[in-house]
Parts: sequence; structure tokens; C-alpha cells
Amino acid sequence: MTADLQIIRRNRKTRIVATLGPASSSYDRIKALFLAGVDVFRLNMSHGEHADKLELVKIIRQVEAEVGRPIAILADLQGPKLRIGVFKDGPIVLSVGDVFTLDLTDKPGNQSRAPLPHKEIFSALKVGTHLLLDDGKVKLEVIDAKPDQAKCKVIVGGKLSDRKGVNVPNAVLPLAALTEKDRKDLTLALKAGADWIALSFVQRPDDVAEAKKLVQGKAAVMAKIEKPAAVDALDEIMALADGVMVARGDLGVEEPLENVPGIQKKIIRTARSAGKPVVVATQMLESMISAPVPTRAEVSDVATAVRDGADAVMLSAESAVGDFPCEAVEVMNRVAIRIEGETLIPTGSVDQRASRNAATEDAIPAAARAVSATVNAKAIVTFTTSGTTAYRVAKERPAAPILALTPRVEVARRMAIVWGLHTVKTKDISTFEEMVAKSKRMALRQNLVTANDRIVITAGVPFGTPGATNVMHVAWVSGDELKNYDGND
Ligand code: PEP
Repeated sequence: MTADLQIIRRNRKTRIVATLGPASSSYDRIKALFLAGVDVFRLNMSHGEHADKLELVKIIRQVEAEVGRPIAILADLQGPKLRIGVFKDGPIVLSVGDVFTLDLTDKPGNQSRAPLPHKEIFSALKVGTHLLLDDGKVKLEVIDAKPDQAKCKVIVGGKLSDRKGVNVPNAVLPLAALTEKDRKDLTLALKAGADWIALSFVQRPDDVAEAKKLVQGKAAVMAKIEKPAAVDALDEIMALADGVMVARGDLGVEEPLENVPGIQKKIIRTARSAGKPVVVATQMLESMISAPVPTRAEVSDVATAVRDGADAVMLSAESAVGDFPCEAVEVMNRVAIRIEGETLIPTGSVDQRASRNAATEDAIPAAARAVSATVNAKAIVTFTTSGTTAYRVAKERPAAPILALTPRVEVARRMAIVWGLHTVKTKDISTFEEMVAKSKRMALRQNLVTANDRIVITAGVPFGTPGATNVMHVAWVSGDELKNYDGND
């Protein structure tokens, strides 16, 4: 990352994730999306070829070098999504009361049956189990369950066509956390240098543990919460994952829709307490797929996520296949700035502040927030090797901008998803004097402060010890700190 570029700094704390797709695969579009406000690009591994993903990563890294800001890449694995097979004579229409059978044969389906090529799930189906097909448009109830077939009654009728998805809410299915395809996609994503790996259809804490074992710290792991079982095991999943996503698309199929807003709040609150990033996803500005302005309800939806303290809000189809990807980012940017202006009172938002552990690592960031408000500090500067100290400061939701300094580029990129962090990769420090001098210099160079401003510095001593956060220092910037500076940070 080049030092002497014009500094790009977001004037909002909430981060924006945009999914790339056919509407956003070119260099020009990706750069325009970044300049409009995207902090994290999401690659949806459910669609497209590996070569296309590698090309996207190449473009993102080129943009990153040009703009001089770390950008996070989130590779979203498809996960064990269940699908029916194909129909012999095209789509069928099911009516309420019809009997329809799902079975393990590979024969194409007809009006009375369809293949369901997932042998693991038949053992989990019992009389009375509900199956939702095609995002819940068709609903079936099992009336007879065998190891290789399930006879069902149609509860909600509708059209059914090839390879539509099947959800089995309220059942923990004996499915592996990662399919064969996921493992291949994961290998590619890690080789390409993805910063975050998102896991779809997490059912149990063990699913996250298994993925983390495969990822081996090469990326951070985000658990998508979209199954009722995952909501039930939220605390345990949160303890293992590096971050979570409120995946409202499938969550709204698996749960009654009216439950989704409450679950969203619960997931955000739990993530905030754990000090781990949380992304609110799906249908945030859905109407902007085909319209240049959103609905009022969609603006309120983004505002709610910002108000609740989500780290990031996400665009899916809006940026992947929509007609107005940059306009959608601009809307999120404006809404976040407006709502943060209302909620971030000078001492930091009390509503958004997480609970703390009785530990030095939590006490120092809490003190940094309070002191920065008292002395009207223009920035909190945090030195972080693993990202932990910076996450802890962000967890406090201070009103002052947070400048996170790290010697590791992969940590800088990962932190691009975290609320309020303006991250810069720099050389490591080894003494207290160096820490203070560098904090002042970097705050000046990033245009966060001018002469006579104060900054609050947090770090862990001994320097370079991941996880230690035990130092807070208030420093005064004279404005002369860049005199005789050789530009070598
Ligand atoms: C979701 O279901 O909300 C989600 C983000 O997952 P996907 O878009 O990959 O289905």
C-alpha cells in the first residue's frame, strides 16, 4: 500500500459489504463500488467458475493498491443446501391436499414424486416434519417416512421446477458442515487470499470448529445464522466463530418471518457482547435491483441495523445482478452517516456499548472511550498485531475515530469489516517512545488530527503480544511531528 496517495477515509463507522456478480465484475465497476463506499467485497461461491473468482480477487487487489486502503474479501461457501432433482416433463403445479413423494431414486420427477438426492436427510424426516420448497413457496408435511422415501401431504401448493431448494426447519440434519464442493471452493478461496470465509447453513458449534480446523487461521471464519438450531446454539457458535452474519434470506424461510427482526436484534446483541463483527444481510435495498431509489421501508431497515450497532450492512442481488449497484452503495453510505450522526453522542452510544469482562483487556478500551470524550481527543490510536486490541476498542463504540495500526497486511484487510476502524499497515514498534511518536505521525498523515489536537493511544505491552491490551496514554500533537520525517513507516 503506497503511503503518499490522497487519503481515503470513510466518514461513517458502519461498514458496507457488496456481493459481486455479473453486474459488478469489471475493474471499472469494482473501483466505482469501492469509491462509492464498499469496504468488503463478497464472492458468492454458489455461482460461477473458479477462474472468474480468481479474476475478481486480482481486480480487488489492484484497486486496493491504487486506493491505498486495505479491502476485505469475503468468500461465502454454499454449504449443505438441499435441492430436489429434475422433472421429466418440466415444472409441475401442486395443490393443497395432494400427496407428493420425495425419494432417493435418480429417476426424473413427475406430478406425484420427485427425487431428493440427499440420503442423509431421510433418516431425520418423521411423520409431521415440515419441508419448505423453493424458499418456502411450497410447503409439505411428511405423512409416511421410510429410509429412502418420504410421502408428504401438500400444505401450501404452488409451482415446482428443477433443482429448487428444500429447507427442513426445526430439524438438525445429519449433514457435514462442508460439502465436497465447499472444500474445493475453500481451497481456492484460501489460495486466492480471501480474508473471511462465510459458512452457510451452520447447524451446530461443531460445524464452525470443523471449518476453523480446515482454514487453519489463513482467514477469519464467519458463521451465517440462518437455521433455528444455530439461533438456539448462538452463544456457543459465537464463541468459536470470528464473526457472524444475520442471513435473513434463509432465516426467513426457516423461521416465521415475524421472528426475523427479533432474532436479528438477538444476534447483534450477542455479537456485540462477544466483541465480534456482525453483518446484517439480505433484501436490505431489494427494490434497488431494478429502481434507482429504495423504498422508505428499506431505508428504515438499514437504519435499524446501524442503530442496533451492526458492524456492517450487506448488499446481495442489488450489487451482484441489479441495475443500480453504485446507487445502492451510495444509499447505504448516506443512511449510515445520517443515523450515526443521530445515535453517536459524544461519549459514544450507550445503547450500542457491549457488556465487559472484568479484565484489563476490556477495561483499557472502556477507559480510552471515556478519556477520549473527556479530553475531546480527535482519534483513538490502537496498536494491534492480531487485531484483538482494535476489536476491543471498536466494541466500546466510541465517538472518536479509531486508527488501528498493524504490521500485518492480512490483519489490516480482515479488520475492514469492523465498525469504526480506519486501519493502516505500518512497521512494528518496539518501545513506548516509538509508539507515541508513531501514533502522532500516523494520525497527522491520515488527516485525523491537526496541530494542538489530543489523541488517546492504546496498546499491549510487551509490544507484539497478541491479545494483551494493557496500556492507555494521552498525547498532544504539536503539528511538527512530520518535520524531518523520512516517510518510512
Ligand atoms: C441469506 O440466506 O440471507 C444469505 C446471505 O445467504 P445466501 O445469499 O448465500 O443464500
